[in-house]
Amino acid sequence: MESYRDIEPQRIELLSRHDRPCEGTYVLYWMQAAQREHFNPALELAIRRANELDQPLLVGFGLMDDFPEANLRHYRFMLQGLADARRALARREIKLVVLHSPPDEAALQLGRDASLIVTDRGHTRVQRQWRNRVAEEAGRPVIQVETNLIVPVDTASDKREYAARTLRSKVHKHLPRFLHPLERTEPRKPSLPLQVPGMDVDDPDGACARLNLDRSVDPVDRFTGGQREARRVFQAFLDERLKHYAAHRNQPQTDDVSYMSMYLHFGQVSPVWLALELEKGRGLRESRDVFIEELLVRRELAHNYTLFEPDYDRYDALPDWAKKTLGEHRNDAREHLYTPEQLEEAATHDPYWNAAMREMRHTGYMHNHMRMYWGKKILEWTDTPENAFSVALALNNRYLIDGRDPNSYAGVAWVFGLHDRPWPERPIFGKVRYMAASGLERKCDPEAYVRKVDRLVQGGR
Ligand SMILES: Cc1cc2nc3c(=O)[nH]c(=O)nc-3n(C[C@H](O)[C@H](O)[C@H](O)COP(=O)(O)OP(=O)(O)OC[C@H]3O[C@@H](n4cnc5c(N)ncnc54)[C@H](O)[C@@H]3O)c2cc1C
Repeated sequence: MESYRDIEPQRIELLSRHDRPCEGTYVLYWMQAAQREHFNPALELAIRRANELDQPLLVGFGLMDDFPEANLRHYRFMLQGLADARRALARREIKLVVLHSPPDEAALQLGRDASLIVTDRGHTRVQRQWRNRVAEEAGRPVIQVETNLIVPVDTASDKREYAARTLRSKVHKHLPRFLHPLERTEPRKPSLPLQVPGMDVDDPDGACARLNLDRSVDPVDRFTGGQREARRVFQAFLDERLKHYAAHRNQPQTDDVSYMSMYLHFGQVSPVWLALELEKGRGLRESRDVFIEELLVRRELAHNYTLFEPDYDRYDALPDWAKKTLGEHRNDAREHLYTPEQLEEAATHDPYWNAAMREMRHTGYMHNHMRMYWGKKILEWTDTPENAFSVALALNNRYLIDGRDPNSYAGVAWVFGLHDRPWPERPIFGKVRYMAASGLERKCDPEAYVRKVDRLVQGGR
């Protein structure tokens, strides 16, 4: 495949049998996983291909009512982002058409008049199925570009990795090659004048009202979707909070994190851009290194898991040692047992856990340290480890804006031993790592965290 100096060949893959452009009137960028105009290599590659063919570039997006596990909270954040992307694309005279249909259908429909289709890459099952179908049925070249990872997942490794320690040196080895600015190319032919009917998404709330969505989870006001907002939130992190990141990363009573996970999940921000902006800061070496460990190593480990483990969302995919030890302790007495409903209502005896559940329910976010504690307690307080896994994943994906992500599957599975090692044996957990309320009290200030969540739930910041 032809590549460009700033879009490495490892990012680009021809998915279809067809490799020559067809007779078409435009190039289509089928936007799916990277919902942004800013720092988007799939978009930039599509513009360059369109310019070479002397054609306009049309961007198309398929919006379905029933995306697996998505509800109003997720849709509203996503539609805020699409409205923002549409405005930013229009400033470059590029048209974004949103069709009310499943993503693969939209790509095939809009692809009928395209000379070729460029798309971004997603690693979950349904995202891969959509791309396979479009590649199979479009009858024209379908080119996929890795747009949401720093190092493409299969460049770093060609197998399921055991842990961060086995992936770390592999991604770091490639980092310099994949960490550089992306040039913006202006389209030679505008696509704004093209007459292609689509949905109006400029008013996100209005668009949500017209869709037939799962409305059982309220949208939240704490976070607003979109590439512009992502950059503003990250700038505030760089200016005010990065200096505390290394020391406070495990301090849930503070706000010294980036809040980038939901923007990364919807592809509203580029991780390459985040890493480059981080590099611009002087000093703060320790905080920058810790942040890169999360953004590069931990995040790409999660993508490695979804790509190379077909059952990434199932208990069965846990490491054998973890399933064995949890199985041996399946019948251990549990001091506290809660139903999924009691958990969802944050009605346990533990005020720290209840605060975490309330943060998730009411704000769509939970601090990483509390996500770990939250998951470990679900394992401790549910009748079987298999049920605990299902409950944790369902709550995670229902309430967190960043849910349903490779990080969701790897994060929940970590609670049950994934990417971790055996620890001294104890009841219920066996050799799987345990976390205690007394550990929170020793290492951070959970009382202050509870007060923070109280403020957030009451609408304060
Ligand atoms: C039980 C459990 C469930 C989780 N569920 C999700 C989820 O649904 N969606 C999600 O995006 N993350 C999930 N995580 C990972 C992590 O908790 C969040 O990515 C992080 O808290 C998001 O906040 P932030 O963007 O402010 O993080 P920051 O600390 O500012 O980190 C920056 C970025 O690095 C990445 N990152 C940080 N911590 C991790 C981690 N432990 N694993 C992988 N990547 C990481 C994220 O992309 C994050 O946006 C889960 C972790 C656990 C233990």
